[in-house]
Amino acid sequence: MSSELNSAGPAFADLGLAQPLLRAVSEAGYVNPTPIQAQAIPLLLAGGDLLAAAQTGTGKTAGFTLPILHRLLENHAPRRSRRPRCLILTPTRELAAQVQESVQTYGKHVPLKSTVMFGGVGLNPQIRALEQGVDILVATPGRLLDHCGQKTVDLSGVEIFVLDEADRMLDMGFIRDIRRILGLLPKQRQNMLFSATFSDEIRELADGLLNNPGYVEVARRNAASELVDQTVHLVAQEHKRDLLTHLIRQHDWRQVLVFTRTKHGANRLAEKLAEDGIPAAAIHGNKSQAARTKALADFKDGRVPVLVATDIAARGLDIDQLPHVVNFELPNVPEDYVHRIGRTGRAGNAGSAVSLVAKDELKLLGGIERLIKRSIQRGTTEGFTPPPRREIEKRPERPRGTPPVRDAGGRQAPTGQPKPRAGLGPRNASRHSAKPQQRQGNGRSRSQGGGRG
Ligand code: AMP
Repeated sequence: MSSELNSAGPAFADLGLAQPLLRAVSEAGYVNPTPIQAQAIPLLLAGGDLLAAAQTGTGKTAGFTLPILHRLLENHAPRRSRRPRCLILTPTRELAAQVQESVQTYGKHVPLKSTVMFGGVGLNPQIRALEQGVDILVATPGRLLDHCGQKTVDLSGVEIFVLDEADRMLDMGFIRDIRRILGLLPKQRQNMLFSATFSDEIRELADGLLNNPGYVEVARRNAASELVDQTVHLVAQEHKRDLLTHLIRQHDWRQVLVFTRTKHGANRLAEKLAEDGIPAAAIHGNKSQAARTKALADFKDGRVPVLVATDIAARGLDIDQLPHVVNFELPNVPEDYVHRIGRTGRAGNAGSAVSLVAKDELKLLGGIERLIKRSIQRGTTEGFTPPPRREIEKRPERPRGTPPVRDAGGRQAPTGQPKPRAGLGPRNASRHSAKPQQRQGNGRSRSQGGGRG
């Protein structure tokens, strides 16, 4: 992946990992451990607890997955039905799926079994997988508790426990669920807590969870990232959508993640963009798991150039080398701005983050600029003329209950007047259809079998 991630340091072979794991790492194309891996792996192999300040994009997943696989392998124990030996809790379904993918990538040469479970999909396949026995269970809290309640999982054999993205777990209101789950774990175990931020609440959670932990901190690359070109456009709320369409066309953006504040806003914007001839899908907590997975896959593969997301849905998404992020609305919490723009400029590649800021958001902008300790440059909107007020008012609203123009998977539903336009219309549609776009840097996309950390 990046030269930035692979800064000079120890080699993987120096960390003490078992040969089959080193083989898998090498097959994933990794040359050197990332800073968090170099620091966390030896500590975890020695059996210690870990408190880590790191977010997605640092290689943290391999940082905990590799030592987990090593230790489970080393302390061999027979696999027992419904009784996992390691539990990894993540806040979102997408992150759970990504972590499980990593477990499989790095564990492909070892005889350990893993499974993932989250809500929004049937219980029965999960029950069957648990019955057959798994060593590593990756789960979101709500669904895990459902299984605990039905006694389809027994957490009394957990030797290693990971709480991933703990800050987001708390933001999402999972604290009580987490405490209930902790109460079901055996006292003797190895614990890891990963968090991008450290509020008093996280510290309190960490104090109760971790036993004399090692501490590893990886710089918040985003906060300092010079790789993200940040711009603000001051624009009236009602002109934002037109400006977004204009920017996408003018710069011929092929892959852009757009943040809205609400689920409803995400849906509406995706529909409106589709009406403008720009294929877009929305991803948020109210979508079915199948729709979310499809939308994400279409976006990653370049079939749908615009993904509109809420903060929670987008958190933790690992999309290689995402070139553009747009804040259609500024987040209420300044830290979320940093998380959002952290979706781009990753892995040593340049990225752009554009924020569309209306008058009533100027206060939020001030808060963000104070947090990142710099002022964000104001952009000019060359060639953009906001449509006259009357035209905006005349635009038909989709009556409640009528089907959206485009579903979350990006399929075009029949509309009265499709309006393909330059850049993203049918003439150029092939660029956005079957083929993933050409990537810069080392060009490795996840679909090319790289796995993730
Ligand atoms: P994570 O922070 O765990 O979400 O990982 C971010 C990305 O880094 C994933 O796409 C991984 O495939 C990649 N990655 C993890 N470890 C390494 C490494 N040592 N060298 C190169 N890429 C890596």
